[in-house]
This record gives sequence, structure tokens and C-alpha cells, in this order.
Amino acid sequence: MRLLQELSSELNRLFLFELPEGNRVEAVFYRGDTLCLSTQVGCAIGCPFCFSGRLGLLRNLTAEELVGQYELLKDRLPIKRVAFAGIGEPLMNWSHVKEVFWYLRKKSIGVSFYTTGHPLHKLGELLHLPHQGVTISLHSTSEEVRKRLLPHGGSLKELLKTLKEEIGKLSASKRKKISLAYLLLKGVNDGEEDIRAFGELVRELGTTATLLRYNSISEDYKDVEDSHYERAFLLLRSYHIRVTLSTRFRKDRLGGCGTLTVNRPLTEYLEDPL
Ligand code: SF4
Repeated sequence: MRLLQELSSELNRLFLFELPEGNRVEAVFYRGDTLCLSTQVGCAIGCPFCFSGRLGLLRNLTAEELVGQYELLKDRLPIKRVAFAGIGEPLMNWSHVKEVFWYLRKKSIGVSFYTTGHPLHKLGELLHLPHQGVTISLHSTSEEVRKRLLPHGGSLKELLKTLKEEIGKLSASKRKKISLAYLLLKGVNDGEEDIRAFGELVRELGTTATLLRYNSISEDYKDVEDSHYERAFLLLRSYHIRVTLSTRFRKDRLGGCGTLTVNRPLTEYLEDPL
């Protein structure tokens, strides 16, 4: 595996790695201290609003390739945290991701996760690790809508059952590190009743909420207006829950949520070869 190229915007730095067989994956350095790593070459969950899974899943990254993304960048970046939030579903490559989690912990690097919660039998173990945060993609409280948004992300009913069981075993401080993510998509899940149902669920589970905006990757989905986003935030806050908003880094066209991709055309990288 080798580091091929870097692209940067005012906010993010995107790094392109070439794997031994020639496939390319990406990592993003953002917020001045956090490296977002890819866990798989592609993704099997198939969210239609995300660029990372458009080729399906080609293969898992090995533990060496997961560590390699960090090792190849650690001397050029002030990395304090690693987020397993790039291309792929970390729980679908769990044995390698877990191995690298402990490797990073030994180096005093804080580790956080973004996951769909699928497969569920790995989720419990993840929630109990000494992580710095686990954000679980919910995006709807309706089984039917969630199935449309995360076609291979498993049953919402089963996810909620597992969350209730496992979160109940966590200390109050640990519970605050668990967040349910809700990507607001215009005309899909942005109605008042949708947002109220999400607020109620977050309050019931005792987690926090992460309210995300869309990066307009697919023409089939649209971001909501600023005023609508603000209203959704205030509505959620009325449930007395902690709500984290989309940051500028997550909304950036370069390296923002859902924008990483497998085998991005190399011409896009020519401006800054390494
Ligand atoms: S949003 Fe996450 S789970 Fe869904 S396709 Fe993209 S990488 Fe996979």
C-alpha cells in the first residue's frame, strides 16, 4: 500500500492510498486533529445518498492496511484522534477494526466510530469499548424509510431492541458518548412528525443526537434549507436532549460526509501529486 496523492480545500485534506491490487481508498484529515479512516474497499450497505458504496463492497481492508493509513500520515499531520468513519461499515470488518482500535489506544490516540449498527451482534461489543464516541446512523424511525435509505443495514426494530439492551448496561457518562445520527433529506424524513419521533426516541434511549445536513451527492436527494435545519434543531432541543450539528468539515465538498469514494478518477488528483 502506498500514499498516492493529496487534495486539500480550505477545511479538509484528502489522502489517496493505492492498495497492492491497484484499488484506491481515501482518508480525510479534518478539524486540525482528526484522521477519518476507511475500513473497507467500498461498502455493502448501499445507502443511495452516499458516494462511498456506489461500487458495492470489493473487499475488507486488512489490519495492516488500516494501520497503514495512520502510519503513512502520522509524521506529516498532528493526529490526536482517529474516526472510523470513512468508506465502509466498520462492523462488517470488525476483527481487523478492533485490532487496530487497540493498536491506536496503546499510542494514546482517541478513537471514535460511525456505524449503521449492522451486523448487530458486533454492535454490543463496540458500544462497550473505551472509545471516544459511537455515532449510529438512524436517519428515520420508520422501518420502511430506513430500509430505503440503508437498504442492507438490517432491521430497525432489531437495532432498537439491541440498543435498548446494551445502552441500559452503560454508565451515564458512557451513554453520553453514544449518538444517533439523523441525516435530514428534503421531502424524505424532514417532516415535523419525523423529527419529533426521532427526538422522543433519543430521549427514551438517553443518548445524544447528531443532526446532519446533506452534501448533495445524488440528484435523487436534496439538502434542506437553512431555516428548516434550524427548526429541526430547535424541535429536537425541545426534547431536552443534546444535539450535535453538522460541522463545516462534514459539509465540505472535499472529504465531507458521504463524499469519499473508491477508485476516484486519478485526474482529480493531479493538482497535488506527492
Ligand atoms: S453511508 Fe456509510 S454505510 Fe452507507 S453506503 Fe456510505 S459508507 Fe456505507
